[in-house]
Amino acid sequence: MPFSILKSPTDFLEQVIPVPEADALRAYESWWESEGRAISAAVDRAGTPWLRMHDRFGRRVDDILFPPDYWRMLKQGYRAGAVWRAFDGGSLAAAYRVGYITGFYDTGLYCPYTVSLSTAVPLDKYGTPDLKARFLEALLRRDESVWQGATWMTEIRGGSDLGANVDTAARQDGDRWLLTGEKYFTSNAGAEVAVVAARIEGGKPGVRGLALFLLPRFRQDGTLNYHIRRLKDKIATRSVPTGEIELRDSEAYLLGKPEWGIYLILEVLNLSRIANSVASVALAQRALAEALVFAEQRVAFGKPIIEHPLLRRQFEKHLATLQRAFALAWESVKLADAVRAQTPPYGDAFHLCRLVIHLAKYYTAEVAVQAAKWAMEVNGGPGTLAEYGVERWLREAMIVDIWEGPPHRQILDGLEVMERKGAHKLLFDHLNADPAELEAMDARIEAHLALPQDEKEAGSQELFEALADFTARALAAQPA
Ligand SMILES: Cc1cc2nc3c(=O)[nH]c(=O)nc-3n(C[C@H](O)[C@H](O)[C@H](O)COP(=O)(O)OP(=O)(O)OC[C@H]3O[C@@H](n4cnc5c(N)ncnc54)[C@H](O)[C@@H]3O)c2cc1C
Repeated sequence: MPFSILKSPTDFLEQVIPVPEADALRAYESWWESEGRAISAAVDRAGTPWLRMHDRFGRRVDDILFPPDYWRMLKQGYRAGAVWRAFDGGSLAAAYRVGYITGFYDTGLYCPYTVSLSTAVPLDKYGTPDLKARFLEALLRRDESVWQGATWMTEIRGGSDLGANVDTAARQDGDRWLLTGEKYFTSNAGAEVAVVAARIEGGKPGVRGLALFLLPRFRQDGTLNYHIRRLKDKIATRSVPTGEIELRDSEAYLLGKPEWGIYLILEVLNLSRIANSVASVALAQRALAEALVFAEQRVAFGKPIIEHPLLRRQFEKHLATLQRAFALAWESVKLADAVRAQTPPYGDAFHLCRLVIHLAKYYTAEVAVQAAKWAMEVNGGPGTLAEYGVERWLREAMIVDIWEGPPHRQILDGLEVMERKGAHKLLFDHLNADPAELEAMDARIEAHLALPQDEKEAGSQELFEALADFTARALAAQPA
């Protein structure tokens, strides 16, 4: 693969997978080149959203204010199909391809599309006909009037241990529920509708007591259904309004059965983690492109630095890693498409999908961090300067590493699905790899799973890293 392919996300996609809507993606990419890049850089630098809590007459309005260009940028992706394409022919892959282009230009902007998709899919799957009629059509619009979704789980005591830390209470009131509590990290605050994790009053403790609710921005009487306490000032994803939300007897609607709550929450997380993987690879490609553009023009020791053997070798290695990371991320997309209709209790294909999602989230986020760090190095001193924007990719990469569950969550949940569902066996049946290598990896995992609990957890990162790398290599070597 030539280095030049790094400069275009559509070129890269076409090189590695079939892209039926390539013309539309090229048009979207052209818009980014002609207008979007400048808007995105300006928003990152000085255009983050802010909150107007009251109107001039003292009424609570909780309006989030953006520079007008932000809206143009945001609506481009919705029009291009970041959400509706997942329902037009039924393939999540088409929506994730739009996400790849977005992620190359603005990792943060991919967040609203991701959480909107992660709202629309469970609503479509688990919502009543009445709920779908009220909310789904608006989330799938292809014009300016499109509604946005959001996924709010995390509370102030921490996001990893939802079973212990979600205190938001849900009380039934006829065919609706009333939610009271606070959400501490709420991306896309201001969304017209969100999916929210809450604890059914009098239910079981821990994760088994959680359920998933659909929560509109406005009550049926037209007043605000949730309040935005503040927006956070973040190192990256600066275009996204990530806030803190207060729920006070907020009207909500149960999705699926109450006892399915944690499974539905995990389904939402699965969709977002796949998007995180797609975004991480796109971010890595962008960082490498920034390195390439500089390396072609910076002259040192008598020639452009790209012509020095050491730097060329480093480029080759990063490009190969990018291809492996993409192969792993894309496998999670394909598997998710295959199990999209499955509901609890899930079958083997779902457990395999879950393992690959954990591997992909873990592996691709690290690839993004390393690519972004190296791109800064290649750019030397200018790489550290905010005016050139290369440093931005390292800031963005640190967010994709942490949100949707930091590395430890992927490792330990991955370990659990191997231990309880034998997902590694399903993976080895799925991969087209050297039988001797498969056998060796299987033996290593089995030996690890037999360790005492503390030892098993303590050493799990090395095992998971090795399995992710093994899987990515095997997938990159087989046709997409
Ligand atoms: C910009 C941004 C936007 C976000 N938007 C949303 C959103 O829209 N909706 C939402 O629900 N959440 C959102 N989050 C929250 C995010 O999902 C959490 O930050 C993440 O899940 C980690 O939770 P935490 O920050 O509370 O860290 P904690 O869970 O408190 O973890 C702290 C540290 O301890 C480690 N750790 C915890 N448990 C273990 C263990 N068993 N073994 C080893 N290490 C462990 C973690 O890896 C981490 O390093 C957002 C976060 C950010 C940064």
